[in-house]
Amino acid sequence: MPAKKNISATSGPTAPAKVGFVSLGCPKNLVDSEVMMGMLAQAGAELTPAAEDADVIVVNTCSFIGSAQQESIDTILEMVRHKTGGKAKRLVVAGCLVERFHDEIRKNIPEVDAVVGTGELEKILAAAGVVEAPRAPSPFNILSSSPQTSRPEGDHRRRQGRFARDSWDGAVADLPNYLYDDQTPRVLATPGYSAYIKIAEGCDHPCSFCIIPQLRGQFRSRRFESVIAEAERLAQSGVREITLIGQDTTCFGEDLGLKDGLALLLEKLAGVAGLQWIRFLYAYPNKITGRLLATIAAHDNICSYIDVPLQHASPTVLKRMKRGGGADLFLRSIEKMRRVIPGVTLRTSFIVGFPGETEKEFEELCGFVREAAFDWMGAFGYSDQEGADAFDHAKKLSPREIESRRKSLMSIQKKISRARKKSLIGREFDLLLEGTSTESDLLLEGRTAMHAPEIDGKVFVNDYPEGNEPKKGEFYRCRITAAHDYDLVAEIV
Ligand code: SF4
Repeated sequence: MPAKKNISATSGPTAPAKVGFVSLGCPKNLVDSEVMMGMLAQAGAELTPAAEDADVIVVNTCSFIGSAQQESIDTILEMVRHKTGGKAKRLVVAGCLVERFHDEIRKNIPEVDAVVGTGELEKILAAAGVVEAPRAPSPFNILSSSPQTSRPEGDHRRRQGRFARDSWDGAVADLPNYLYDDQTPRVLATPGYSAYIKIAEGCDHPCSFCIIPQLRGQFRSRRFESVIAEAERLAQSGVREITLIGQDTTCFGEDLGLKDGLALLLEKLAGVAGLQWIRFLYAYPNKITGRLLATIAAHDNICSYIDVPLQHASPTVLKRMKRGGGADLFLRSIEKMRRVIPGVTLRTSFIVGFPGETEKEFEELCGFVREAAFDWMGAFGYSDQEGADAFDHAKKLSPREIESRRKSLMSIQKKISRARKKSLIGREFDLLLEGTSTESDLLLEGRTAMHAPEIDGKVFVNDYPEGNEPKKGEFYRCRITAAHDYDLVAEIV
């Protein structure tokens, strides 16, 4: 779900105005923010975290579902106040909301000076009014990006109109096709020990509830060597945890003619000195190959962690979602994952209340969740998206019914999670310490390989050997001493 990060930049000697960033939405959007900040920094900018100090504010927006669009608009309006009653002189809106409402944003919020779509990140310098400072030639080429590629499946879907934006008034006409590479400057907004690498962009799947293909364009992969080069550079700069991201990382390399591209990439990354945890988000159910599972099982520094959003378990709902599969097939696939990777952590997410979802279909989903016993699970109420196939479906459930089903699915998972977390008491794991707990100054907190950054529960640390105060960003061996519904308590041993 959308997250909000305040990150900022100030410009160099020839243009001393400060530039502040607010990044909304998912990690993929955060990487776009990091790339834009990198371009600004390369042009002579420097970073500062306070919006009230900024002369230029950039809001990098999310448009995934209605609530994300609303949060984006609220944030833009909040930043307008810094322009009308504060120091800011320019306001720039970037990201998915621009792809969706390009013309509307400028028309309805006249304080917005410029918009930058997800496919035109290089325009951030002109949009922010930052003049590139004269300097020595840089090893980076800000206009570079991976070559344009596509999958036959994506080309086929394009001909069918999957990426068409005809029903969206004011949207950017051209689909985005930008993708950064290892030569693109980037400023990390994550802690120095952990970083995301976007390995692919866009999506070719036909899911009938989703507008991400229209927002982000056809699936395209970064070049294999570009990802490795970026990972090596990050590792040399102190990054210990890499999370590979994309709408569907399991398609990685298909557009480059690679078979089992993600498995090959993980194998190569496992050999990069200094990387202790490598994981990928997200997997598409029928793209999890035996080779991928064997690769995860064979390397200690590839986390035994798979996030596979299944969206539903009733075959009839999945068919209407244009995804396919069903509980029986998924259970067989889960059994295989657990057999090939002993102790694997499994996360999934579901959409509850899809148009026409009957009581019986919802019960099928509940039964599946009980049987599959995921380590982590998210449930989202169906959200209507103009431009998605499901938008025109006649049998919509009421918001009340959707929320009631979502809550009852989460209550099933809560019991499962509690039991699974309890079974970990007494066991030892590697823990990445992330600092003082946000819940209490008396506790430290961190994550194990079972916890992806900013998604899963936490591990609270309440004890460590005397005289050996643990340091943020370092790995320690810990023993689990207590468990809550989703969080764990541990001592460092
Ligand atoms: S695979 Fe994910 S991003 Fe792609 S269309 Fe389906 S839900 Fe959307």
